[in-house]
Amino acid sequence: AKVKSVEFVKSSAKAKDCPRDPLRRPEFAVLGRSNVGKSSLINSLVRKKDVALTSKKPGKTQLINHFLINKSWYLVDLPGYGFAHAPRSAKTDWSAFTKGYFLNRDSLVSALLLIDSSVPPQQIDLDCANWLGRNNIGFTFVFTKCDKVRATKGRRSDDNLKKFQDLISNHYQEPPPWIMTSSVTGLGRDDLLLHMSQLRNY
Ligand code: GDP
Repeated sequence: AKVKSVEFVKSSAKAKDCPRDPLRRPEFAVLGRSNVGKSSLINSLVRKKDVALTSKKPGKTQLINHFLINKSWYLVDLPGYGFAHAPRSAKTDWSAFTKGYFLNRDSLVSALLLIDSSVPPQQIDLDCANWLGRNNIGFTFVFTKCDKVRATKGRRSDDNLKKFQDLISNHYQEPPPWIMTSSVTGLGRDDLLLHMSQLRNY
């Protein structure tokens, strides 16, 4: 499941502008709250420093970025949601075109929904998970910044994770899979790559 090559394919401003691949290679979409650690995780997965740009400001044009991995599958960087200080228009823009992407992308295998393990469960993340579920879009919870859990010796951030996992367990008869990651230590990187390769071959 190693990443041997990564090519930037395209930035798309609308769902319908996303690449049309005659080979119909499978893709995985990465999404999460702004600042969840999405760019860091993508860079860590492909072991490059700046594949996904780590500085995005609210209000800046939001794009869907396609990366082709090993010439055989795509990793898709979706705009972050829930900017703390975004104008209302930026928030609704997110919904409109990211939802459009999810509802129309036949080659999507699964979404990776990033959850920041260093903060308590956020309603907007649960809303996003519920929306994906209602629309039958398969997804995996990917917890980010799990190095912080260890660094603070359990207690508070352990609680965040546990609370979130309790919420999931209570909510779903069959909870979606979840993977713990850290872009700082590389925790979970191989697990996540293996998980995606299993989903592709399923
Ligand atoms: P994005 O907005 O979701 O793309 O988030 P970024 O990747 O830009 O990360 C947001 C902030 O969280 C930055 O200050 C990162 O350095 C930090 N960060 C991201 N991933 C990790 C992680 O795994 N561990 C720790 N401790 N910090 C992280």
